[in-house]
Amino acid sequence: MVNLDEAGVLPRAANFVIEDGRVHLRASRCPSCGAALYPPREICPADGTDSLEDILLANGGTVYTFTVARQSTPEFRTPYVLVYVDFPENVRVLLPYDGSEPPAIGAKVEIVMADGPRLENDELVSMPHAK
Ligand SMILES: [Zn+2]
Repeated sequence: MVNLDEAGVLPRAANFVIEDGRVHLRASRCPSCGAALYPPREICPADGTDSLEDILLANGGTVYTFTVARQSTPEFRTPYVLVYVDFPENVRVLLPYDGSEPPAIGAKVEIVMADGPRLENDELVSMPHAK
């Protein structure tokens, strides 16, 4: 299994930390307008503020909606489920779902590490999923 934080294979997917066994996505908060932004950014798209704060999102949120992908590139086994999760910090994030059946809209999910795509060297990439 590959840890994206160490391998840097998919930098956008590496925006997380694990604290006390719980996965938290890294994000930014604008001190001017209060917007939470994921992935982390340098500049607030709403007002141009360039001194954003680094924040960690909660370990879970609420399912806004989902989709089931039935076709993909070879490194992803299909079908797989993608969910939009609304976090308490008022930001919506698209994440893979750790399960073969989609969750109910409005369900509470937590963020966990699970196997993602398979690399050319046949290693599985571990990355944050909703569960
Ligand atoms: Zn702002």
